[in-house]
Amino acid sequence: MSENTADELPKPQETCQTKEKQSDQRDIREQADQALQGLALAPHHALYTAQKTGRLKCSTCGGSRMFYCYTCCSLVGLNPQQIPVVQLPVKIDIIKHPNETDGKSTAVHAKLIAPDDVSIYTYPCIPELDGDTQNVVLVFPGPDAMMVEELPAFFCNSKGKRRTDSLTEERRTKRLKMDESGESSGAQTSAPDSQKYSSLVQRVIFIDSTWNQTTRIITDERLQALPQVELKSRKTCFWRHQRGSPDTYLATIEAIYYFLKDFHTHCLLREYKGEYDNLLFFYSFLHKLINKAKQAAGKS
Ligand SMILES: [Zn+2]
Repeated sequence: MSENTADELPKPQETCQTKEKQSDQRDIREQADQALQGLALAPHHALYTAQKTGRLKCSTCGGSRMFYCYTCCSLVGLNPQQIPVVQLPVKIDIIKHPNETDGKSTAVHAKLIAPDDVSIYTYPCIPELDGDTQNVVLVFPGPDAMMVEELPAFFCNSKGKRRTDSLTEERRTKRLKMDESGESSGAQTSAPDSQKYSSLVQRVIFIDSTWNQTTRIITDERLQALPQVELKSRKTCFWRHQRGSPDTYLATIEAIYYFLKDFHTHCLLREYKGEYDNLLFFYSFLHKLINKAKQAAGKS
């Protein structure tokens, strides 16, 4: 299952599976459908029209594309007015693995929907990290990673300390204390001021890569000093669900979306009212499209 992208819908033979596999896939599909329901999305009319038109040539690179060019990060067969734009509370940097096929990546969705706030880098290029990395966090699971709701307390406690060594040490100590007390020192307990905390996290780095390819990026010494954040376990809606990978392995656009939702609630301390739902504008449409194609292929 590697070729299910915006451009390449699943081939009929991919749906010929054992009963067990079919039910697995049905479970994933049901979970995904639930997760994508109730989003406050801009209407998909323009995408349906563009789909009927079919592939067009990207005016920049000449590649044959539908909806957008994943190489040039530009719309194809769509006007910017037909696409929602989302303002984000933080800058998002996405580091892509060079071997990750552009067409499979959902990172481009973020850049298209939030062009002012999203930058994409191809490894070994990474965002410039100057001496003061205190306001930058890396979203990646690991033993030292904290949850989004721990960010306010973490940044509050480490305020004024510039050295990330002490940040890491402090984080470890804090985690231990939390483990001992069994409590989460989240937004509620520390009664933080949302403005103060929102300014403390300014950039968030995501890694866009298959599970197997991430090692090279995550072990890069330039990223070692960054505080790490992991997302709560969430079932993926990703149609490219990979055999052997946990179904909590999120597509990059899902990870960004869930991070921002948590950030909004726990760091900005605001009620979430769908502010970032449109980040999933393309994703939810493609998901619907691919499910329909799969169902159609299954029936024939
Ligand atoms: Zn192009």
